[in-house]
Amino acid sequence: MGMFVGTQRINSLGHLEIGGCDTVELAEMFGTPLFVIDEKLVRENCRKYRRAFEEYYRGEARVAYAAKAFISTAMCKLTQQEGLWMDVSSEGELFTAMAANFPSNRIYMHGNYKTDEELRYSLNVDVHCIVVDSIDELYSLNSIAKSLGKKARILLRITPGVEAHTHEYIRTGQVDTKFGIQLAGAQAFEATKLALSMDCLELLGFHCHIGSQVFEIEPYRITIELMVEFMAQVKEELGFVTRELNLGGGLGIRYTDTDDPPSIEEFIKAISEATMEECAKHSLQLPILIVEPGRSIIGEAGTTLYRIGVIKEIQGVRTYVSVDGGMSDNPRPALYGARYRAIVANKADREPDFLCTIVGRHCEADVLIKDIKIAKPEKGDILAVLCTGAYHYAMASNYNRFTRPAVVLVNDGKADLIIAREKREDLIRNDIIPERLLNEDKQ
Ligand code: PLP
Repeated sequence: MGMFVGTQRINSLGHLEIGGCDTVELAEMFGTPLFVIDEKLVRENCRKYRRAFEEYYRGEARVAYAAKAFISTAMCKLTQQEGLWMDVSSEGELFTAMAANFPSNRIYMHGNYKTDEELRYSLNVDVHCIVVDSIDELYSLNSIAKSLGKKARILLRITPGVEAHTHEYIRTGQVDTKFGIQLAGAQAFEATKLALSMDCLELLGFHCHIGSQVFEIEPYRITIELMVEFMAQVKEELGFVTRELNLGGGLGIRYTDTDDPPSIEEFIKAISEATMEECAKHSLQLPILIVEPGRSIIGEAGTTLYRIGVIKEIQGVRTYVSVDGGMSDNPRPALYGARYRAIVANKADREPDFLCTIVGRHCEADVLIKDIKIAKPEKGDILAVLCTGAYHYAMASNYNRFTRPAVVLVNDGKADLIIAREKREDLIRNDIIPERLLNEDKQ
């Protein structure tokens, strides 16, 4: 597989082009750092999920975009137009979806600790369903629903005892996580009984999420086996028929050449077949099958453009190439040791034969990419870091009082700003100097 995805290509000027737009021109027009989103690729990924379900799952299926990966009002519009549902996990994400007029009856509300205010807000806007994460939440949601004179539709988030990340997964009875209700030790069964006994809750089914950036299908198969077995148990013992089974997100993407995730189609085929097989084995009707992909919808569609500044060569050690962003727009290298591919956008046709380390300009080591080969860089060049659509802007901060970058959506030669660059004034918008400190000035 080559370096590029979606509409990325090298144009006649030898520049990286995305969505028919020259990235060097984008950097001039919108400034740097800049997030560039390939609209065609986002839409194509949404369609791949939906098409695969149509082809391989015999029951009803839903694709709920996991907003935590990247959300803005324009992204809500895009996913809505593609017929997706949405998974939100905070009041702020829900507010953004509402502001974009995303239909509330296509929203799943998540969170291991939803405040009472968030639960009230979710019920008031009438989300499709609240994914209840704990026994505690069952009680508070039931009483909030009662006070509002409503019935809350819920899924129970179950921790099935399978945990998967990239190439590894573990299967244990107990999973050490703050999320969900353990399948082990009959906790999930007791929670189901409790939910069914509460008069202001309507249980629709179950949810689970086994990890993120997952490269293997096997842990999903095991999870489906466990979840469907549980569905059979609650049907048998409590007479409860599961209407919805939500398997969460997690499908991995290709950040570097060594990453080799299954395709969206392979993933959906495998989980559809496993669900149908397991349901047949237990003589259960097929549930509405739901997935919540975030990274695999938006990750590869995003590219960050930086302007290269200081280049520092330490003879016999390494060359540091500084860019005008860093951990405030991409905390993932610091958080997870994440690796990336990158290219000098204005020298995209040149041999990447210069070994260097890309660093940001924050007051930390702020290493973005250690030991990467790119075309020989010079001050003023544009560096494109690929695969930065998911959990980048969403995790951006104002560390060192950096302003958060702009985000542009590109397609067929058009570039539209979908999130404006923060201004210096935005940084002090919420700052307050107490009167008594002002008084000191006068002395
Ligand atoms: N659903 C839930 C409950 C999650 O916690 C996450 C991510 O952590 C997702 C969906 C999206 O995962 P991904 O972006 O890996 O597809």
